[in-house]
Amino acid sequence: MMTAKEIRQSFLDFFASKGHKIVPSAPMVIKGDPTLMFTNAGMNQFKDIILGNTEPKARRVADSQKCLRVSGKHNDLEEVGRDTYHHTMFEMLGNWSFGDYFKEDAIAYAWEYLVDVLKLSPDRLYVTVFEGCKEEGLERDDEAAGFWARHIAEDRIINGNRHDNFWEMGDTGPCGPCSEIHIDLRSDDERKKISGKDLVNKDHPQVVEIWNLVFMQYLRHADGHLSGLPHKVIDTGMGFERLCMALQGKQSNYDTDVFQPLIRAIGTMSGKVYGQDEQVDIAMRVIADHIRTIAFAITDGQLPSNAKAGYVIRRILRRAVRYGYTFLDRRDAFMYALLPTLIDSMGEAYPELKAQKTLIEKVIKEEEESFLRTLETGIKLLDKKIEEAKEKGTKILSGVDTFTLYDTFGFPLDLTELILREQGLEADIKGFEAEMQKQKDRARNAAAVETDDWVELESGETEFVGYDALEADCKIL
Ligand code: ATP
Ligand code: MG
Ligand code: MG
Ligand code: MG
Repeated sequence: MMTAKEIRQSFLDFFASKGHKIVPSAPMVIKGDPTLMFTNAGMNQFKDIILGNTEPKARRVADSQKCLRVSGKHNDLEEVGRDTYHHTMFEMLGNWSFGDYFKEDAIAYAWEYLVDVLKLSPDRLYVTVFEGCKEEGLERDDEAAGFWARHIAEDRIINGNRHDNFWEMGDTGPCGPCSEIHIDLRSDDERKKISGKDLVNKDHPQVVEIWNLVFMQYLRHADGHLSGLPHKVIDTGMGFERLCMALQGKQSNYDTDVFQPLIRAIGTMSGKVYGQDEQVDIAMRVIADHIRTIAFAITDGQLPSNAKAGYVIRRILRRAVRYGYTFLDRRDAFMYALLPTLIDSMGEAYPELKAQKTLIEKVIKEEEESFLRTLETGIKLLDKKIEEAKEKGTKILSGVDTFTLYDTFGFPLDLTELILREQGLEADIKGFEAEMQKQKDRARNAAAVETDDWVELESGETEFVGYDALEADCKIL
């Protein structure tokens, strides 16, 4: 059985053998781009090449990119831990062609790598092609279907809709159809029971998307019309942890050697055993997932804070701490102690983890301790409010209470919502926002009374209204 390290390397070796230049991962935290806080796909670092603003150093490129999907268009946070194949941070393996090869070779390479090199059974693979979209005058991607048919039985080529199978960078710019590769992880026994046509079902929960091949062939203009892209681009992304799951014969990313050492370490620390209680399992998965995100964010220079990207990281850390508190009975800082385990498994591919170990541990430990100081009181308050709500027969926690948890006890809104959801309740978000606004106004008024300078600021030249307001600006990401 191949290890995760060998799998990552085999991908890079394969594409190097096809003339690709292997490049390093870009940072996961993006500085100085107002449109994107975190790298969420391999193509991000090549945006300027794809837009034609920069000349590529090589026309064929491949890499493994650290990605984070917790904000904006891609936000998988609520899935994490509850399913077994969406992470906050994950590695995306990718290959690109900037005006070099196109559909035919991209499809042939993907197939050769999965089936000839990795020996995945073709019998378990399904692919999708864009079905077309009449309203927009877009044809079905018969071209891709034709190339796939050279490798895979026609009944395993499934039509996909605009949402899943047509990729656009934004309202304008490069775009085009894509083909996804899905792998069927159902057991042989289960598959035997289902015959012929019914077997091919990419929407079955145990059939998982592993690779997306994007064929950028159009340019969308401001008035909405499409023209041909002069230099066509291949942009692919494969979920590394999912690939490991498929190759190691597992049903869950957390059962691979990418996550098992972390799961075991969390088990040892908490005296809990993975696989016996669903709530405990979710907590262990969330913590194993979140520690990676937090550690990698810190190596990219992003410390937890009260604003923007820093607040995203703080929210993720507090979420993990609370899972540990509630379901693993942890009463003191423990996440920081997972660092040696994380370094064991990822330190070779990402030496920055090793280099910054002491800093990462210190930052995480301090964050954990600071949140733990108010967590217990906050949870008690919330439990009491939930009881009261249930007695009253309401399913809503008031804006005032939600805001108190946020402001006094450091509970990010999404954390309060998560706890409420576990009990069948929800937060009054409008009420919460109103409280936040009141606090901003109070801060403004207080400032206005105090000094002349602040009166100047009041007139609207500068927007600074305190850290709480900054937090408010990025609370729902
Ligand atoms: P899904 O439909 O499973 O959410 P996606 O279509 O959003 O995936 P893409 O944007 O096509 O994903 O990204 C390329 C590949 O990255 C996917 O085929 C998948 O293998 C992987 N991937 C996407 N999101 C995640 C995630 N949150 N955690 C782990 N792997 C992911
Ligand atoms: Mg997705
Ligand atoms: Mg998808
Ligand atoms: Mg996809």
